[in-house]
Amino acid sequence: RPSGSADVGLIGLAVMGQNLILNMNDKGFKVCAYNRTTSKVDHFLENEAKGTNIVGAHSVEELCSKLKTPRRIILLVKAGQAVDDFIAQLEPHLEKGDIIIDGGNSHYPDSIRRTHELEAKGLLFVGSGVSGGEEGARNGPSLMPGGSDAAWPHIKEIFQKTAAQAQGEPCCDWVGETGSGHYVKMVHNGIEYGDMQLIAEAYDILKRGLGLDEKEIADIFDKWNSGVLDSFLIEITRDILRFNDTDGVPMVRKILDKAGQKGTGKWTAIDALDNGMPVTLIGEAVFARCLSAIKDERTRASKVIAGPERQPFQGDKQQFIDDLEQALYASKIISYAQGFMLMREAAKVNSWHLNNAGIAAMWRGGCIIKSVFLSDITAAYRENPALENILLSPFFLKAIEGAQAGWRRVIAQSTLWGIPIPAHTTALSFFDGYRTETLPANLIQGQRDFFGAHTFRVVPGMGNDHLKENEDV
Ligand code: NAP
Repeated sequence: RPSGSADVGLIGLAVMGQNLILNMNDKGFKVCAYNRTTSKVDHFLENEAKGTNIVGAHSVEELCSKLKTPRRIILLVKAGQAVDDFIAQLEPHLEKGDIIIDGGNSHYPDSIRRTHELEAKGLLFVGSGVSGGEEGARNGPSLMPGGSDAAWPHIKEIFQKTAAQAQGEPCCDWVGETGSGHYVKMVHNGIEYGDMQLIAEAYDILKRGLGLDEKEIADIFDKWNSGVLDSFLIEITRDILRFNDTDGVPMVRKILDKAGQKGTGKWTAIDALDNGMPVTLIGEAVFARCLSAIKDERTRASKVIAGPERQPFQGDKQQFIDDLEQALYASKIISYAQGFMLMREAAKVNSWHLNNAGIAAMWRGGCIIKSVFLSDITAAYRENPALENILLSPFFLKAIEGAQAGWRRVIAQSTLWGIPIPAHTTALSFFDGYRTETLPANLIQGQRDFFGAHTFRVVPGMGNDHLKENEDV
């Protein structure tokens, strides 16, 4: 089959595709662009790509003929059927060892299937999470590739040079087998939901609990952004709070409190339930958006249901703000611990060998959840690649120990105020459950057996003639 001189092909000239092409071009790679609606190829070449090394194709066949072998073709099209359609169109023009990379927001079971289907035909497949939106695609995204292991050496240089860089390392590494790249991207998005909810709760506590205005709250976020919470989301929260409309009113006051969602947080929560993993914080973050969305019903309820009378805060304000910083930090640690627990379980179920340190490192830059905190997770996994849970690492044990008292005070106070903080409270409940040897599930087992003869297991050392240990009795 004819081959050419382009390093990589990219199909899909919408916002993500165009920006990623320009980024790869900047990094010295020759890209061949193609799009279903071919007029967009000409438009792109004559405008955004003018004066670059970028070339175009007007058919899938032409695209394949212009690529070096093994051919590397990135799809950045609408997730779902469009990906399968393009794979089917590409196949006749590819040869053994060529690589199809799906960079869209595909659901990971599709990537597992596509890896197997293409490998059976001698082709290689990579499902890559691409994070950071338009900005990331243009200047350096976080890239999370997984799939056919044999593809990695052929795409490593392009991917790592195109990705964002953090602490001198690329925000891209090989994640693992089959659908693991898209899985990790899904969990990343779930964690993003959790981080956003935690920040929103802190804002609510500062606003309604302490009675601070947007400017005062922005100053607090500004300060937090130079400590343990230093992150993109804290930084933009500060900026949003400081942004006023033309009439001088803070814009955030004019934004209706109904949160939207596209579904990747929900996917993570559903996956957690399917895998029996207590990823409670992301679940609460998704539900909090759902509760926000039923605004009309809440408005009616607010007229009828009274909460506690909110007393003005009597204590040391600065101490409380410091406690809140620690509460947010501790809850965030729990959220990431839960996310990594979910990935640990998915790795087991799908026989993936996940690169935990690499995953944390990939999220340090180029994406919405980028933060200083992720360097500490990277370090924890690098120090001990077999780490069972980040909560058990010396660093995070110490961090939680330091945060615990303030975390509890904030939750107690907010509960007395009647301010809903589902992400913070679920994080603390999880933490207290995780560190407890004996939970009240003995009673649940007793109840299940009482009404449904579901049987139970006996506590080791408490068996006897009729209560056999290690057996259902
Ligand atoms: P998009 O709006 O999701 O998709 C538009 C592209 O898909 C166009 O190139 C379009 O071709 C093509 N397409 C749509 N349906 C098709 C079909 N049935 N057959 C063939 N081609 C089809 O574009 P995007 O926002 O740039 O996103 C691309 C992918 O990246 C998506 O999977 C998205 O979820 C993911 N992603 C997006 C972001 C973001 O911030 N936007 C961030 C990360 C990941 P035509 O021009 O011919 O219609």
